[in-house]
Amino acid sequence: MDYVYKLTKKLPIFHEKSQKMQYKKSDENSLKYRKEGNELFIRKKDNFKALQLYTKSIAYAENNGENLSIAYANRSAEKLLHRQQKAKSLESSQKIYSYHDSIPTIKNKNPLIDAASDSVEIGKNEKWGRYVMATKDIKPGDIICVEKPYAQEVAVTSKYLHCHECLELCYNMIPCENCTEVLYCSENCREQANKTYHKYECILFQLGLREQRLFLRVALNGMSEYKNMKVDLMNDEGGIYRSGRYKEIYELLTHKTDRAPYYVFQDTLEAVVFYHYLKNFTDILKETDIDNKEQVLKELLLHHTLSMHCNATCIEKPKQIDFGQTDVSFNTTSKVQRQYELQIHYHFTCECEACVKDWPTGEYLRAGKHIPKSFMEKMLKLYKQEIIDKSTVDKLLNDAFDIASSMKGLPIPSRNYNYINGIICDLFIFQGNRLLDF
Ligand SMILES: [Zn+2]
Ligand SMILES: [Zn+2]
Ligand SMILES: [Zn+2]
Repeated sequence: MDYVYKLTKKLPIFHEKSQKMQYKKSDENSLKYRKEGNELFIRKKDNFKALQLYTKSIAYAENNGENLSIAYANRSAEKLLHRQQKAKSLESSQKIYSYHDSIPTIKNKNPLIDAASDSVEIGKNEKWGRYVMATKDIKPGDIICVEKPYAQEVAVTSKYLHCHECLELCYNMIPCENCTEVLYCSENCREQANKTYHKYECILFQLGLREQRLFLRVALNGMSEYKNMKVDLMNDEGGIYRSGRYKEIYELLTHKTDRAPYYVFQDTLEAVVFYHYLKNFTDILKETDIDNKEQVLKELLLHHTLSMHCNATCIEKPKQIDFGQTDVSFNTTSKVQRQYELQIHYHFTCECEACVKDWPTGEYLRAGKHIPKSFMEKMLKLYKQEIIDKSTVDKLLNDAFDIASSMKGLPIPSRNYNYINGIICDLFIFQGNRLLDF
């Protein structure tokens, strides 16, 4: 870190950002987004996009000015808010309606892993490092792990729809009072964020350092948890994995020595830039009570920017490995490409059945058992968002499980078996995020 800092300290990134606040509140911008919202609402009748622009207008409005009130009023327009929220409150920012089902719980708890069921265990060896292994047959839809994320960030595309603290979908969010980047579902969430990570990241956002939030949040937590983590590292609990504890996050691999020097340099520079701005523009060092704190902050920033790149989840045995939403699914990605991605990012050679037997990707597979046409027609309506109500989604999910079960015992891989598994994933996403009434 020190070497890279010395080497790069004349780069404009260390000077130009400090000269002007690029992303501060601005009534001028707020007005611009409000007009764009009006345009979409009145002329194009696109309520959903209009709502997001009105929320953006609120995020940019200067505090307590007339403009902020107008921005709130526009968003509360008769037809815009979801009727359930509207019925109870037009302006308040309280969470009123939950847009997802309650989070499921694990039935057979794993004695060694807080968040997991007993159908998995953690193993460790020379070849694969640390890995998760299935201990029994896992059926489609079985819940094997439920865990609150240690740190989280809202995707850029959803930042005017989801609370930045609790991630709840919310149509009437309130903004951070200082930056334009984060909004919350409630005063509670705003206070919670301001007490913790956001009191440091807010100023960085205003200066234009808006990327890489996740690594920054983890490193900021690390500063306040550093002392506890040292104690936890000394107290061996016999390999128990606790949820929400910093020790587990700190112990994720960085692959520092396996990665190409070019990437390590890039990550180090990123850590140096954040160190520079945290040290000079926030009170983090003043407020932290640990020995050698400048050094610790540098180390944690570097440690977490490196570890963000290379943490995979892999369930192996009994039959299939499917990496789900990542780009290494055997259904869509060839073996060569999968092995390359896994080597570059996670430094391991996959030996799942699909890799060992070199299965062809989905389009070259035999179709397998037919998926009923009536089911596919309903799915199509869901994808087009023509129907999206809870009971339909729940019913489709049940049907999808039945279809998957009916394929049990048939030879895999088959195109339709892969297909129905993908649909189950999609249905879970629909269940978790219903954009009602739009
Ligand atoms: Zn919230
Ligand atoms: Zn802020
Ligand atoms: Zn594989």
